[in-house]
Amino acid sequence: MENKTLMQYFEWYLPENGLHWDRCLAQAKALKASGIDMVWLPPAYKGAAGSRSVGYDVYDTYDLGEFDQKGSTATKYGTREAYLKAVKGLQKAGVEVYTDIVLNQMMGADGTEEVAAEENAGNNRELELRDDFKILAWTKFLFPGRKGKYSDFCWSAENFSGTDWDEKTKKGGIYKFEGKEWSRQTDTENVNYDYLMGVDLDMSCPKTVEALETWGRWYIDTVGMDGFRLDAVKHISYDFYENWLKKMREHAGKEMFAVGEYWSPDLGRLLHYLDEVSGSMSLFDVPLHFAFLAAATSNGNYDMGAIFRDSLVGNRPQCAVTFVDNHDTQPGQALSSFIPAWFKPLAYALILLRKDGLPCVFYGDYYGIPHDGIGPVPGLRTLLRLRKKWAYGEQRDYLDDSSLVGFVRTGDEEHPDSGMAVVLTDSVEGKKVMEMGSRFAGAAFYDAMGHFDQPVILDGEGKGEFPARGGSVSVWVPEPVYREICLEIEF
Ligand code: CA
Repeated sequence: MENKTLMQYFEWYLPENGLHWDRCLAQAKALKASGIDMVWLPPAYKGAAGSRSVGYDVYDTYDLGEFDQKGSTATKYGTREAYLKAVKGLQKAGVEVYTDIVLNQMMGADGTEEVAAEENAGNNRELELRDDFKILAWTKFLFPGRKGKYSDFCWSAENFSGTDWDEKTKKGGIYKFEGKEWSRQTDTENVNYDYLMGVDLDMSCPKTVEALETWGRWYIDTVGMDGFRLDAVKHISYDFYENWLKKMREHAGKEMFAVGEYWSPDLGRLLHYLDEVSGSMSLFDVPLHFAFLAAATSNGNYDMGAIFRDSLVGNRPQCAVTFVDNHDTQPGQALSSFIPAWFKPLAYALILLRKDGLPCVFYGDYYGIPHDGIGPVPGLRTLLRLRKKWAYGEQRDYLDDSSLVGFVRTGDEEHPDSGMAVVLTDSVEGKKVMEMGSRFAGAAFYDAMGHFDQPVILDGEGKGEFPARGGSVSVWVPEPVYREICLEIEF
């Protein structure tokens, strides 16, 4: 069994030059060699902002950069042809491809309709502010540039539950269409969080659900992806994705791994959702992201021993996709909560070197974010290498201090020289006694993160006293591994 790693292969501020799919293709082999087995690609269909769209303002899910719509043929990331080539190239290099599925909202309609509506309060979507009036809603999606190719389905008000703009009065608000109800099977923020933005898809409308299933089958046949990243699942009626995934998996005839974005720091809500969808998907470990943020911003006063206590990976590891940051948490974005630079190597060590969870590396951490003058996370490539080749065997935790914590992987027979001792602290420097096991008796261990020149020599029982510098992580590995890392990777 090899440790697998997922990578989110985009950040918000990629250049708007239509070259991203070409970049995916060009980097495919290098990614695999770096220890990346799976990539999550950004939404590939035309958004309302055309070639400037990151992809979440969904306009036409059948337009993968093929039709002259919203001011351009290509998307921000390139053309349909380049996209399909990139997916094939990645898969050929041994990298699985996960596509971003955005089915909560649509934007950029081609026309308006007069719709009877009621207005709800922004912070209480069950509270009716006024009733019995008509708005002009942007609900007619006709796709004139596509002319019915692949599908002649056009969207109209009956497919949606509501919107946030009245073109008649030019006024914003939460408008629910007459005869529609917000789904009760959604997050309870704002009492009911079915509505997020744009025009909200009504999953209780059979025609809407059928259109999304028809499209899903077309998308699978067209792209041949390996699985999905599901956007905004807390805003979508909980029964929708369980059924949709079942049908997509039947159609594809394969497992189709799926990970949902349920953005909440509350473990209870994530567990509730997983139960509601019968474990048909994994979820991003949002509580762990916020534990990292708290640890990184508490001036050394965070209880590091409890860092996994309220996380998904600590409570339902088989459903946890762990991550440090993403395109929403990066500076300037909607959920901005970027982990401070000093803590990033610690966070990545905690998701990459342990046995539980599927870790997801952020593009902006791997390559940096030039838009904000942010460089790559130091040591990240080393940690990926360590995970791939040597983070095996039993895991023994030393999460027994409020600052200086650690764990060891004892190594296994299958992976030569595997095994490591990881020690980190959110406070001042210190040393931790940890046991690697008797087969390492007398061995010299070196810090693969490069903070120490001198080795730690293990005693006759395979015990060592492993140091970490203040506010940092050291990963102590056997000498042959250290030599290999020094030769391959620049510190
Ligand atoms: Ca919704």
